[in-house]
Amino acid sequence: AKFDDLDLSPVMRRALKKAGFEKPSPIQAELIPPALEGLDVIGQARTGTGKTAAFAIPILEQLDSLEDCRDPQAIVVVPTRELADQVGREVERLAYGVPTEIAVLAGGKNIRSQLRQLENGVQIVVGTPGRLHDHLQRRSLRTKDVWCVVLDEADRMLDIGFRPQIERILRRCPRDRQTLLLSATLPPSVQLLAESYMVDPLVIDC
Ligand code: AMP
Repeated sequence: AKFDDLDLSPVMRRALKKAGFEKPSPIQAELIPPALEGLDVIGQARTGTGKTAAFAIPILEQLDSLEDCRDPQAIVVVPTRELADQVGREVERLAYGVPTEIAVLAGGKNIRSQLRQLENGVQIVVGTPGRLHDHLQRRSLRTKDVWCVVLDEADRMLDIGFRPQIERILRRCPRDRQTLLLSATLPPSVQLLAESYMVDPLVIDC
């Protein structure tokens, strides 16, 4: 597979070149096309497979500019602060050459600077379930314009006990959104979450 087969914008191709990505990994080759079509997708993939770019590329390709939309358009939910920082950096890297406001909303970080950032306008939010839920309750995280929710490492998040927070986040987002779920394993708990909150998901195993 080649990135040329994926129908990506010149800006994205430039970012991929800059990042040193020569060809798509299997999860990227399989997940990017249906994600660009707006389908719900379950991707069974471990870390190190390039799963971050697999969901970041279709989001960045379809993002409205900050001038057109001040409230978050995509929310990426991850299990840990470390992963939130890592995903934030990878998204930033793939947004090369395109001004993109990304907020990393993880616990243990100064909430005031997060509030200020949300107030100034954000396109993509990456966060941990607890802190995202906190921002929902404060009404600082507005979800009316969210068109994509990503649940990254869903099995790990459920193992940690984040199910209630994840459900609250999903229920607050528009119904006609796209939901992408990434998970190393697909135990019944993950399948139940998918059945409840995804529409006819395509399952990809890489
Ligand atoms: P991830 O599985 O998303 O944590 O990615 C693992 C590592 O692979 C990260 O350092 C990515 O930047 C890198 N990576 C992701 N996709 C590609 C690709 N298509 N070509 C080369 N490196 C990649």
